[in-house]
Amino acid sequence: MNLENLEKMVAGLPNFRKTQAYDAIFKSGYDSWEKATNFSYLLRKAFEEKMPLSIDHELFHSKDGKTTRALMKLSDGKHIETVLIRSGKRNSVCVSTQLGCPMGCAFCASGKDGFTRNLTVSEMVEQILLFSRILKKEDEKVSNIVFMGMGEPFLNYKNVIETIRFLNNKSTLGLATRRFSISTSGVLSGIKKLSMEENMEVNLAISLHSAIDKKRDTIMPVNKKFPLSKLAEALSDYYEKTSRKIMIEYVLIKDFNISDEDAVALRKFINELDAAYVVNIIPLNETSCGYEAPTSFEIGKFKSYLEKYKINFVQRFSSGGDINAACGQLVRREKG
Ligand code: SAH
Ligand code: SF4
Repeated sequence: MNLENLEKMVAGLPNFRKTQAYDAIFKSGYDSWEKATNFSYLLRKAFEEKMPLSIDHELFHSKDGKTTRALMKLSDGKHIETVLIRSGKRNSVCVSTQLGCPMGCAFCASGKDGFTRNLTVSEMVEQILLFSRILKKEDEKVSNIVFMGMGEPFLNYKNVIETIRFLNNKSTLGLATRRFSISTSGVLSGIKKLSMEENMEVNLAISLHSAIDKKRDTIMPVNKKFPLSKLAEALSDYYEKTSRKIMIEYVLIKDFNISDEDAVALRKFINELDAAYVVNIIPLNETSCGYEAPTSFEIGKFKSYLEKYKINFVQRFSSGGDINAACGQLVRREKG
């Protein structure tokens, strides 16, 4: 799918045709222009040629039925992954923003093979459209979009924001901006730019994983450039401008970041933050990176420290581990 071509195609047509074309894609969820029977045969053929709607993909379903991973083939033959997570009334799509990732976090599989390129707006929209079509067949809709797949969203800032604005538009999915969440490993320029966007109520998540500089340095190279004091400053500034609660993601790693001392450091970091927050603890999904997940006993112990220091937290229950669709497991695989 190529949205630029779509714009070019509809540019010369009357307004009602433009509406019909957008409706065919985003409201009816057609996967072929043949189904747009309100168009003439010639128009359907022209659209099919310049702006085909088919999305080359393969699906993998988790045993509990809650998670579906899609392996999508891009026009240059490269593959990306997208995940649909069903939870209660929510249908969240976890979108990839880059092919690979240059940030090199030690516990994450996404960056292991380096970085190839940023994804285009069309390629991100397509990830959401694919699941929107699947859900439509069940009379359901995409309700939330999280930029938490492969890649660092703030290194592809312009396209990520454009994707949100595009899908926010009534002529497409009309999704409110507050239904989008962006997770960053700590690219401060992106946090700053986001705080200055108009009409952009997206949720910001920051991947912290340790509030001790020396430790964070070892698992997240970004910390060497933007240490915790600078991160706290940027987040406080963001909160001052937006008044939006910040989600702090904290992956639990065995023998690494779950001691009493780690909870004390986290408390100190939060004290420095002049912002409403919630810490989201996520037990590590094991990849080939060598780090281990803590036992449930160890997780319980860390939670008791968080309670002791009155840290506001929730635990994310990860699904999709059995189909390699959980956080940090998305890679640039060619098959399965
Ligand atoms: N690149 C962005 C967004 C994608 S990663 C970021 O890092 O924030 C989404 C979340 O999954 C991040 O919090 C990331 O740190 C976390 N993650 C990465 N690898 C993981 C793993 N193996 N287990 C659990 N979470 C992981
Ligand atoms: Fe990139 Fe996020 Fe993985 Fe770090 S955790 S390597 S920033 S995708």
